[in-house]
Amino acid sequence: MSSLFRHIPSVDRFLLELEGDQALAGLPRQLLKDLVAEFLDLCREEIRAGIVTDESALSFATLAARAGAYVRARSRPHFRRVVNATGVVIHTNLGRSILAAEAVAAVAEGCRHYSNLEMDLDTGQRGSRYSHVEKLLCRLTGAEAGLVVNNNAAAVLLVLDTLARGREVVVSRGQLVEIGGSFRIPEVMKKSGAVLREVGATNRTHLRDYEGAIGADTAMLMKVHTSNYRIIGFHKEVELPELVALGRERGLPVFEDLGSGNLFDFSPYGFMPEPTVQQVLKSGVDVLSFSGDKLLGGPQAGIIVGRKAYIDLIKKNQLNRALRIDKMTLAALEATLRLYLDPELARRKVPTLAMITAGREELTARARRLGRRLSKELTGLAEVRVKPGFSRVGGGSFPEQDLPTALVAVRPLSTDVETLRQGLLAEDIPVAGRVEDGAFCLDPRTLMNEEFALVAGALRAVLAGGAK
Ligand SMILES: *Cc1c(COP(=O)(O)O)cnc(C)c1O
Repeated sequence: MSSLFRHIPSVDRFLLELEGDQALAGLPRQLLKDLVAEFLDLCREEIRAGIVTDESALSFATLAARAGAYVRARSRPHFRRVVNATGVVIHTNLGRSILAAEAVAAVAEGCRHYSNLEMDLDTGQRGSRYSHVEKLLCRLTGAEAGLVVNNNAAAVLLVLDTLARGREVVVSRGQLVEIGGSFRIPEVMKKSGAVLREVGATNRTHLRDYEGAIGADTAMLMKVHTSNYRIIGFHKEVELPELVALGRERGLPVFEDLGSGNLFDFSPYGFMPEPTVQQVLKSGVDVLSFSGDKLLGGPQAGIIVGRKAYIDLIKKNQLNRALRIDKMTLAALEATLRLYLDPELARRKVPTLAMITAGREELTARARRLGRRLSKELTGLAEVRVKPGFSRVGGGSFPEQDLPTALVAVRPLSTDVETLRQGLLAEDIPVAGRVEDGAFCLDPRTLMNEEFALVAGALRAVLAGGAK
């Protein structure tokens, strides 16, 4: 064993070799040196553990190739593009919504140059960053006023803190939900300093439950969209118009956390009924909040709209300063909202909308095209076929809605599908898909045509590599 250690070449020899590697050009020398040293430690570890028992595995050519791959994998940016072949449109782990080209351009323009972020160009005086989207939001939703913050969790926190700190907020027990990650209504409530007054039962809440809970300490009535959670069967919640009527009668504001919040009406596309933000506001709710990067298909943001008197109070809250939206987000949000001025334009240009409304025929044609390409490029490596399947909206939106699609199923011939799945995630541009019935499945709904070549290349690299 000890003689094997002597076969490991020196760090300097690797440095000389790797400095000529185009893929590593521009890498700081000290980082390269550290990574090579790390790699050589790994080689010694392999000898000690008895993984490497033969000096042929320690030839300079073999080790230099491995060292190159090792350094490349560890020196590339940590935050990277991923190809989403999962068919989950608002994929929380993959960055939720991707932006329309118009929004991307607005972000680039807004950061490459100075901007009127907080300058009123009519007066030359200090302006408000919210002015860039407030009018647009009002026009699109019918609200009197609006503002935007970092995300919807921040929006809920800010609304509660402003309108209910130290006082009670009445919420149905059926709506005390946890939404992904760590957003839980009772906990957000506690953080805001508002006191949760839960009413009703898990499955059924009546108007009289709210009525009975209202007292001198009540600040607000709140409704929470249960997003990715449904109670079916013996179930009742109080509809928003009834809650609004009760709020009016008792002089209390009514706030709804709408979660996804769609400005676009999906019902003509065969979706289960889901009121748009415009429709919810029409029912008279005083304040409403929703996410920018779920069904809206914009950047991460929390949008708050409603009655001017309440929005003005929220804008003045000091906490708002800590939760405020940055200029890149504002640029992306304004550009996205502008597309919504023409709903059909939004449907075509906002990727989230285009993907969700894509029809089965179009998807099948695209799956066949990808399938043909993969069959050709993966000959002898995998069996490829196109089969019917389902995609999902994701992001807690339309949780029970199966979207019919066509999947390209790739069944590896000489390796197992789990190895393929992991190998694809280790590529420079990782490819995420799903495994179904022993095959790696790609859903064209979330793939762009320009990505077909990339997907084919990645599959080929992993499958050919694995067969070596
Ligand atoms: C997603 C969601 C949130 C959190 O929104 P973020 O934009 O992710 O902060 C809050 N409430 C509901 C009902 C949601 O669906």
